[in-house]
Amino acid sequence: MSDYHAPVRQMTFTIEHLAEFAEVAALPDFSSVDAETVQSVLDEAAKFAGNVLAPTNWIGDQQGVRVVDRAVQVPQEIADAYAQFCEAGWPGIASNPDFGGQGLPKTVALACDEMWAAANVAFALCPELSQGTILAMDRHATDELKQVYLEKLISGQWAGTMCLTEPQAGSDLSTLTTKAEPHGDRYLITGRKIYITWGDHPMAENIIHLVLARLPDAPPGTKGISLFVVPKYKLNADGSPGAPNDVFPVSVEHKLGIHASPTCVLAFGDEGGSEGWMVGKPNEGLGAMFTMMNYMRLGVGAQGVGLAERSYQKSVAYARERVQGRAPGEKGLVTIIRHPDVRRMLLLMRTLTQASRAICYYTASCLDRAAHGTDAEAAEVWQSRAELLTPIAKAWCTEVAQETTELGIQVHGGMGYVEETGAAQFYRDARIASIYEGTNGIQAIDLVGRKLLRDGGATVSAFVSDMRAVDAPLANAGEELAVVRSALSRALDDLVQSSTHLVSGCKRDPELVSAAAFDYMMLIGTVIGGWQFARGALVALEQLAAGGDKAFLESQVVMARFYAEHVLPRCSAHAAAVRAGSASTMALAAENF
Ligand SMILES: Cc1cc2nc3c(=O)[nH]c(=O)nc-3n(C[C@H](O)[C@H](O)[C@H](O)COP(=O)(O)OP(=O)(O)OC[C@H]3O[C@@H](n4cnc5c(N)ncnc54)[C@H](O)[C@@H]3O)c2cc1C
Repeated sequence: MSDYHAPVRQMTFTIEHLAEFAEVAALPDFSSVDAETVQSVLDEAAKFAGNVLAPTNWIGDQQGVRVVDRAVQVPQEIADAYAQFCEAGWPGIASNPDFGGQGLPKTVALACDEMWAAANVAFALCPELSQGTILAMDRHATDELKQVYLEKLISGQWAGTMCLTEPQAGSDLSTLTTKAEPHGDRYLITGRKIYITWGDHPMAENIIHLVLARLPDAPPGTKGISLFVVPKYKLNADGSPGAPNDVFPVSVEHKLGIHASPTCVLAFGDEGGSEGWMVGKPNEGLGAMFTMMNYMRLGVGAQGVGLAERSYQKSVAYARERVQGRAPGEKGLVTIIRHPDVRRMLLLMRTLTQASRAICYYTASCLDRAAHGTDAEAAEVWQSRAELLTPIAKAWCTEVAQETTELGIQVHGGMGYVEETGAAQFYRDARIASIYEGTNGIQAIDLVGRKLLRDGGATVSAFVSDMRAVDAPLANAGEELAVVRSALSRALDDLVQSSTHLVSGCKRDPELVSAAAFDYMMLIGTVIGGWQFARGALVALEQLAAGGDKAFLESQVVMARFYAEHVLPRCSAHAAAVRAGSASTMALAAENF
């Protein structure tokens, strides 16, 4: 029996009401996607995640991966699950139909990504990276390269990777040194990449690496980086994988979590040069790679949601069984779910998870409306909003996944700290999400430095106006949502003041952005979560009045109230830290630490 059951009802509610799915479904590209399609895709995904993937999670964690004879070995159960995943057609659900994809909206595919991550996040990284590779190639590669690679990547027959990091080039890619020498119609790539997720494995026939490297005459810094596609095996004339292409895993990292995901040191060109082909234009590779990075950032946010959800489910199950202590008004011993402090933890877990789900799905819906919209002006607005939301979806959702999975351990008491229950695995697996795809500190700096300041706060202001529009219906909803209304209004005030403070103060204080960014990111994410809960509660009240599913709908209202009372007050603390700026943060000399 699986210990994970995808919360399909909560997901479809979020897609329909909080990700504004009607607007996505109205786009001509999605004319065949109706509510029934969404329901059946999610139902099938839930079955696959629960029955096939979830049982491999613990096995993968315990067995891990290793390098034998310059090749990575993975547990057989994981390889079998990948074969079934491809056979069922899951890799291509949102990909370009011109190359065999099913062209579903990102809003729907992301809900599936959440399920894959909840079921087995180490596994989920493999198809996720392939999707990022597909998207970057679809947008930036020549038609010829697309013909060669896309169909096989979309079917899952081949898998993709992203190769950016080098020992001296992590957050700052300007110092990367991997070389690309012109060689006829192609390039010879030489260099070492580290931390490459699913950098090698036997599950796909070929592995398609997207590699950042420098041409011989490239200018220094980020303006001298180009992007190359480098297959593990060279291709025969008929397109099938042939001889090895001089790319090998040197080792895999031993790490805190995601044990079934091989994190490889990859050697390119030790024996003369790995053959690669340029994707996009010379020296503009970082821009092209950003297509993949942004895709992955939202995906990492969804990983946070999935892990938080599974941790929550396990904690609820434990809290219902574990008998400990007494409670006022009850005879005998009670299960721990009776204790208010345990309820507090469970509701924190549930609300933070739902808030992060709502943020991720809404971001996906903005992306769908940007990429498939027929009105260019409106599409541009959705694009700006998606760009604003992407670092929030990545960083806020993975920060709260740390909190949620940590609470999951706490609910289990000592049983959470020992490994057998599995609660600790979710915590260990979630930890990386704040680090890879750009650390959360770097995401926050991107949010403030680029997304907030680039237009003097206009994109944030427009979003705030949209969020304030919920005030009037909240006022009409009366006493039941009064606390939601007042807490959200205060939180929005905090957000506006903090945004103004940053826009006006960053010129006076060059350290302000980096010093205040993290608190600003946590502030805006918390506010957006509150706005989404308010919208959800309004829908729920309406549906309750019409005789809808009482237990489910009442829980939406209670979650909104709990979040307003217990989570939204965090906004004022974040706003105070933003206002404090860099003074005390930078007051100590480095040698005084
Ligand atoms: C398990 C795992 C899988 C990974 N998968 C991949 C992959 O598939 N492909 C790939 O290319 N890479 C991958 N990475 C690399 C990952 O993206 C980097 O680890 C990450 O971007 C951080 O870089 P770094 O480790 O060099 O840390 P550093 O850049 O050294 O950062 C250390 C600390 O300093 C902070 N910091 C750094 N610069 C600044 C700044 N300018 N302002 C403020 N703070 C700053 C960071 O936020 C961080 O807290 C993976 C890493 C791991 C651990």
